[in-house]
Amino acid sequence: MHYFRTHTEIDLQAIQHNAEAIKGHTGKKLIAVIKADAYGHGAVRVAEALDATADMFAVATVEEGIALRQADIHKPILVLFSSLPAQVAPIVEYGLTPTIGDWEFAKALNEVGPVKVHVNINTGMNRSGVCYTEAMEFLSNLKTLHRLEVEGLFTHFAAADEADKSFVSVQLKRFSSVLANVDGKMIHAANSAALSVPESSFDAVRPGLSLYGIYPSTEKPIELKPALTWKTRVGWIDTISEGEGVSYGLTYKAPQQTRVAMVQVGYGDGYPRVLSNSGEVLIGGARRPIIGRVCMDVSVVQLQSEDNVSVGDEVVLIGRQGNAEITIDEVAHRAGTISYEILTQISPRLKRFFNY
Ligand SMILES: *Cc1c(COP(=O)(O)O)cnc(C)c1O
Repeated sequence: MHYFRTHTEIDLQAIQHNAEAIKGHTGKKLIAVIKADAYGHGAVRVAEALDATADMFAVATVEEGIALRQADIHKPILVLFSSLPAQVAPIVEYGLTPTIGDWEFAKALNEVGPVKVHVNINTGMNRSGVCYTEAMEFLSNLKTLHRLEVEGLFTHFAAADEADKSFVSVQLKRFSSVLANVDGKMIHAANSAALSVPESSFDAVRPGLSLYGIYPSTEKPIELKPALTWKTRVGWIDTISEGEGVSYGLTYKAPQQTRVAMVQVGYGDGYPRVLSNSGEVLIGGARRPIIGRVCMDVSVVQLQSEDNVSVGDEVVLIGRQGNAEITIDEVAHRAGTISYEILTQISPRLKRFFNY
């Protein structure tokens, strides 16, 4: 048995299942988004697990792409955001596929090419890319940069996770107006949320969150398996008297004699401090509430007097234990945020274990 006080377990088979389910559902190529260390699941191991299923990987930054190349990942790697002119040399050196969203970067890249690129068309997200109304002129100017080969064209949806898909339609219309004059390129748009909108699939889909078995909204068009479990251990158990407070600021006061357990996870591990006096964990297959403030390294939970719990026992923060389950969506909801943020805040201090 390993000795780590808190760790995550990543089910790579679940990720493979999800990738195949997405490919089966859409019938399109898969650009597997593994930015931010594969949403906290470990980008290198996820890339290895998806090597046979993904047609391409996508990361957010040049640095992330380089780390994958250094780990012997040879599939095409798309860098989703415009890089800096200072990064053109490593892009070419490491064989990454950059995104073009402005002319200055395209020119700088052309100095060091040849390189395949994808062009980001801004159809309403308004955070990056070439505006759809200027795209035709931009694409025709790009033809003068002879060391750039435009392999793909994409856009990104701003509101595909909302029940009302009318802005998806607006963006699809704007994107299609550009595509009408484009031939032979790899066209892609769909993030996880857009997997429920078949006409957004084009030649490839570009999901991140769904690969990890999590849904971006209440729509569940594909059967997915969650891949991440987050565990810790009981570090101390005692019984406190009525009226005693717990943790910094004594924000919890025991209404009667109360059994308490310290669990070895805190905000220094990425467990949200906002779950103070509001989160729940699984111990012995039962839900137990967090009492008092979440500290940097530990938290305190309330036990029932009959709980058969010992120091060293497993505690589940996200995942299943016995018949009980705490989903990441529940944790995110309680923390007032989204699953994406919970995942990417899990600290590198944690050890990750991978199951096949
Ligand atoms: C992060 C990202 C994705 C994946 O989004 P999910 O909601 O995780 O599926 C796709 N495309 C771009 C441009 C992104 O930044």
